[in-house]
Amino acid sequence: IVFENPALHGPFVAGCRPIVANPEDKVNAAFVVLARNQDQEGLLSSIASLERHFNQWYNYPYIFLNDEPFNATFKAAISKSTAAKTEFGVIPDSLWDFDDSVDRKELKKALQNQADQNVMYGDSESYHKMCRFYSGKFYDHPLLKDLDWYWRLEPDVQFFCDLTYDPFRYMQDNNKVYGYNIAIKELKETVPNLWRYTKSFKQKNKMQSKGMWEMFLQTAEEREQRGGHPLKDARMSDKNDKVKGKAETNNPTSKRFADPDYEDMGEEAYNMCHFWSNFEIGKLSFFRSKEYRDYFDYLEEKKGFWSERWGDAPVHSLAVGLFLAPSEVHYFRDIGYQHSDIFHCPYNAKGAQLPPPERYWEGVSKRTGLKLTDEQIKEDEKWLVPDPAEEGG
Ligand code: GDP
Ligand code: MN
Repeated sequence: IVFENPALHGPFVAGCRPIVANPEDKVNAAFVVLARNQDQEGLLSSIASLERHFNQWYNYPYIFLNDEPFNATFKAAISKSTAAKTEFGVIPDSLWDFDDSVDRKELKKALQNQADQNVMYGDSESYHKMCRFYSGKFYDHPLLKDLDWYWRLEPDVQFFCDLTYDPFRYMQDNNKVYGYNIAIKELKETVPNLWRYTKSFKQKNKMQSKGMWEMFLQTAEEREQRGGHPLKDARMSDKNDKVKGKAETNNPTSKRFADPDYEDMGEEAYNMCHFWSNFEIGKLSFFRSKEYRDYFDYLEEKKGFWSERWGDAPVHSLAVGLFLAPSEVHYFRDIGYQHSDIFHCPYNAKGAQLPPPERYWEGVSKRTGLKLTDEQIKEDEKWLVPDPAEEGG
């Protein structure tokens, strides 16, 4: 509901602006990209799109991180794809790997269990590590040490709209902390106990909502749809447990693990909403704060980064719920974006007139000095929203 308030959550800037990218106006920010060598093609595509719609004018640097060294081909191809500075870093084991205290056998069993229950990426240890890294470690990587702001980028994403202002600058000037452009529901079986622990953390620390917590609460109607049980469909069926015959051990979604506190948390159940963090623009001091680190350490202690498959998206989101006020969160409704088959596409304001394509491209060329190929123009025109009147409404 807080998100309906346009004074808080309207776009920073409406319409296109003449781009003024004074170097002095730049914010201490970078794109942060976790990737593997085999992500090269997918990244070249993401970078091309991002440069085309934003970064060719602003030239923010890119930081690429990998748990293994990037190879020479990757570095050469990526550096060539942008005029901005590119840096490539290896993630030390101390930030990537699970703690030594984690029992390898238990971990293997837990991943197998998740696979048996068809949890997406359930048996992938590297995926679990990736989620943990983005949840609690990326901000401590040496290459990010002096950075204030990051914009997360992934392979194979697309941007659709020209962004003619600097979102970092606006976030900084408007005291924003966290920015997103898609919020969706999490796959319940990946986080059966994340809410429970988040709530116990909140209670233990006697925390009061600053206004964002409410975004993550199930409504009475939603609760009703679940037959009164807040997490009913977060757990797999008994049948599934029996088939596998493995329900007893460390199975996060089995009945045995079902929490005696579930009933107590009744009034406040998780609606599974989360910011889709493959796009996010964030302030690093938030993640580096004592309160965020305490939250992450608490979650780590509860083992959910491997005994379940807690994603960085719900973790970041619930942290926003715990610590932030609505005025510190920004919905980038004006950033058209696609990752896999989910996208956000801003619609033109009612009554807005699109210039005819020739004029549109003239404008782009004038502003950017770019000579666009016919192919590029054709590709982009696919995304020009037709006048609804012409479409017959
Ligand atoms: P999905 O979007 O949830 O399907 O997950 P992705 O496969 O896109 O992974 C999320 C991000 O982490 C992407 O930027 C990947 O390139 C990166 N990533 C995932 N797993 C690994 C890994 O094991 N090592 C490295 N270096 N990057 C990874
Ligand atoms: Mn992805």
